[in-house]
Amino acid sequence: MRKGILIVVSGFSGAGKGTLMKRLVREYDNYALSISATTRAPRPGEEDGREYFFLPKEEFERKIATGGLIEYACYCDHYYGTPRAYVEKQLADGKDVILEIEIQGALKVRKQYPDALLLFVMPPSAGELRRRLEGRGTETREVIDKRMRRAMEEAEGIEEYEYIVVNDDLEACVRELHSIIAAAHNTPLRNKDFIDKMRKELEGEKNVTSILCRTN
Ligand code: ADP
Ligand code: 5GP
Repeated sequence: MRKGILIVVSGFSGAGKGTLMKRLVREYDNYALSISATTRAPRPGEEDGREYFFLPKEEFERKIATGGLIEYACYCDHYYGTPRAYVEKQLADGKDVILEIEIQGALKVRKQYPDALLLFVMPPSAGELRRRLEGRGTETREVIDKRMRRAMEEAEGIEEYEYIVVNDDLEACVRELHSIIAAAHNTPLRNKDFIDKMRKELEGEKNVTSILCRTN
């Protein structure tokens, strides 16, 4: 069975990560989308257990204390974290698991899972980012300004990621993401077991060859 990859997707708030991930999961069947826990309030239309597990602060802190989260971070005054059990089960089942998380969390994941694939979603321009945040209509002007300032800080960390993808045309971006992930499956770093097995087999073949040489 093909081993699943842990895929970390970051990007400025409003770049289109959520929209892209929903499409990716709908259009291809090898992906599992991790649902994070957060202490922020649900936006209109968001459901507990679908977009996020919405938790009170005390419960979130209990999860941190009991090791129930792979990583967590504080983003714009709220906790966000990745529940451990779901991710480990899906990876064991061979799924590519997507974590849509911000940069502090992404770097913590890479420490624990060195073969995780880190992708950064960019909008085509800063102006378009603001238009998307405003167009989404889910945040106040004050929160939008805070997220735009946070984007400036996050832009400093982009080089930590393996690939950037520009979300201009949505469908083209979904296809591009899928092909990057498909290619990532074939890197030596992510195929250590297969490479080791091949080396062992080649060792075995060497013995057969030397026997053949002697008898010939
Ligand atoms: P994020 O999850 O990164 O915060 P969202 O997925 O919520 O961003 O997208 C922010 C807004 O931008 C939404 O209103 C969404 O419909 C819109 N959007 C996403 N991708 C595109 C795109 N390629 N072109 C135009 N609008 C987009
Ligand atoms: P939003 O409030 O817009 O849903 O998310 C705010 C930010 O939190 C986004 O950058 C999103 O990627 C990030 N985020 C969502 N879930 C997690 C998580 O589990 N861990 C971390 N570290 N960041 C998360």
